[in-house]
Amino acid sequence: MTSDWLQGTGDRGVFILRQATETIRQNVKRLQHGQSWLLTPLRPDVLTVTPWLAPIVWEGTFDPVLIDNIYKPLNLTIATTVFAVGKYTRFLRDFLETAEQHYMVGFKVHYYVFTDQPEQVPAVTLAPGRKLSITRVPKFNRWQEISLRRMEIIQTAIEERIHKEADYIYCLDVDMKFHNRWGPEVLDTLVAAIHPWFYQLDRKQFSYERRPASKAYVPVDQGDFYYMAAVFGGRIEDVHKLTKTCREHLEEDKNNNLEAVWQEESHLNQYLVYQKPTKLLSPEYLWDDLKSRKPNEIKLIRFSAIIKDKAEVRENA
Ligand code: UDP
Ligand code: MN
Repeated sequence: MTSDWLQGTGDRGVFILRQATETIRQNVKRLQHGQSWLLTPLRPDVLTVTPWLAPIVWEGTFDPVLIDNIYKPLNLTIATTVFAVGKYTRFLRDFLETAEQHYMVGFKVHYYVFTDQPEQVPAVTLAPGRKLSITRVPKFNRWQEISLRRMEIIQTAIEERIHKEADYIYCLDVDMKFHNRWGPEVLDTLVAAIHPWFYQLDRKQFSYERRPASKAYVPVDQGDFYYMAAVFGGRIEDVHKLTKTCREHLEEDKNNNLEAVWQEESHLNQYLVYQKPTKLLSPEYLWDDLKSRKPNEIKLIRFSAIIKDKAEVRENA
């Protein structure tokens, strides 16, 4: 799989990748020897901390062994929600199988699958300490509907059970595959992932909702990063507040006959302008297979949206 990303870049691409890998190896070696090297940035090519001092997680900025050793003794359970409604059940097998290889390996993971067809959930062998629960949800009539209902369903699930069953919660899209480590370095209070199509753009170009009447409205001079709704998470309490607020805003818009330009993603972005995330995931953690050329700053792709025929998989009634 990894080699696909190099296609078309030729020898130069391979050279750059080797060089980057070497830099990362050196950095990790330094960290393992307990050297702080205060005057040597770990990733001089990218922003690794936000103006409000939240880290942005990139390959080369952390020591995976050290991170695992810090979090493993805490005996954490990571709730992971995923929706598979209508034809999207077909994505569950690859999602779950690749998650078992790369997602929070060695940690207790509880997948919560929300589907209208429980019988379509594949039997995937899970590593010890990991489990899966299925919750039936209605079949929505329009594909936008799921995006409007996801926040409400997650909020309810947190209130009913997840708050008793897990320490952290991560909410993920299903039309995705893992390719590399997606580990406990993502854990924090409130975590969002930078959208792979927007990270090089100016805030004026972000696709925020721009109608002041909507609860998702973001003025042109506001906003830091554009986040993608395919990944968000954090401590249960903080994600509960996020889902509850977004749900209320979605409902208020609906009562006013408004639907934000990117539905739930617009509301998520509006929320995060004012409640800043405490940790940001670089686009390594949320890529898109449609971006076939991997830019130099992306050292490895960890989780990526697969290419789907939207017209074929979505309900348009
Ligand atoms: N989804 C679903 N059934 C649908 C539409 C969406 O289960 O008919 C869920 C699924 O988890 C999907 C997520 O909602 O990953 C977001 O929708 P989609 O991936 O189509 O949005 P995109 O990532 O293309 O913006
Ligand atoms: Mn998706």
